[in-house]
Amino acid sequence: MIPYGRQWIDDEDINAVIDVLKTDFITQGSRIREFESLLAEYLGAKYAVVFNSGTSALHAAYFAVGLEQGDEFITSPLTFVATSNAGLFLGARPVFCDVEMDTGNLNVELLEEKITSRTKLIVPVHYAGHPCDMEKVKEVADKYGLHIVEDACHALGAKYRNFKIGSCKYSDATVFSFHPVKHITTGEGGAVLTNRQDIYEKLLMFRNHGITKDKRKFINHWEGEWYYEMHFLGFNYRMSDIQATLGISQLKKLDKFVKKRRKIAKTYNEAFRSNFYFEIPPEKDYVYHAYHLYPIKVKDREKRKEVFDLLRRKGLGVQVHYIPVYFHPFYQKLGYFRGECPVAEEFYEREISLPIYPRMTDKDVYYILEIVEGVFREIYEN
Ligand SMILES: *Cc1c(COP(=O)(O)O)cnc(C)c1O
Repeated sequence: MIPYGRQWIDDEDINAVIDVLKTDFITQGSRIREFESLLAEYLGAKYAVVFNSGTSALHAAYFAVGLEQGDEFITSPLTFVATSNAGLFLGARPVFCDVEMDTGNLNVELLEEKITSRTKLIVPVHYAGHPCDMEKVKEVADKYGLHIVEDACHALGAKYRNFKIGSCKYSDATVFSFHPVKHITTGEGGAVLTNRQDIYEKLLMFRNHGITKDKRKFINHWEGEWYYEMHFLGFNYRMSDIQATLGISQLKKLDKFVKKRRKIAKTYNEAFRSNFYFEIPPEKDYVYHAYHLYPIKVKDREKRKEVFDLLRRKGLGVQVHYIPVYFHPFYQKLGYFRGECPVAEEFYEREISLPIYPRMTDKDVYYILEIVEGVFREIYEN
């Protein structure tokens, strides 16, 4: 089975990890800070803080912008459950705003009607690696005094108006994941980028139980060299130096990985552009798409399952991204209902993610093209 996404780990990555295993620090050593400064430099933000998952990075970012019990935050239902779960961890309520049919990103025109006196935060998700129209999101956020945290777990290597996603030009913080299906991997892992020092300091403490070792911040008296203070309830969300070492080695290949994803997407686009059966993903003129996914939308939603099953039977590990978050039984129990975001629901009913990952050979790409074309022909022309 050809999966929809997978990592690419080479000998250089493996040797780097073997080397760090022979050192004294396999966690809380210097590799964490090195990975963080390389990420910040690459993305063009002042600060980076790495975490043990994208989910914990989202949790920390929401905490750091001040999201708390009783607040509301607006996000997309067309995402992985982590985006909204991370706000529930803090006692805040996710409010789902419908998406655009072409990109699958938040429909900014609908944002304002979702804002109440409790709204504190907007979380745009750069679906599939296609950045949201951040200028417009920021315009709404500024008008109502709201924070923005970008869920950029799909969008490492993407650009919006020539600014790298992660530069936080239009947001308070930006979150990435280093899960193996994402652009680069640390096994499990994530990061928050920000230009704000206050957010940076909160992220560091949140990752480590809410503890500070900074004398200037102590509330009580410093009692000796052993001394530290815990100021709020944080977590152990630390990444290990083993993972950071893999991340440092993978980051060197990010540009190559993204270029390869774009090359595959271009081949797909050219082959599929004028087909009758499904729509291909757009690339708006204001973005540089990172193609975490290659989502097609079957024109006839009644046929989606049949197409999906036949693609799977022919050996393509296709997937569907995503079941709208509020369809899940847990969210239904919280009072969300079907029909809330009709465009996201139709998107879900028609979507199939074709395999795309940098390690794919040209031969793989043409093999996939043939299978996809064959499956649609078989279903529609019989
Ligand atoms: C992968 C992903 C996450 C969560 O990242 P983990 O590293 O798996 O915790 C969050 N949001 C989106 C959109 C993702 O794709």
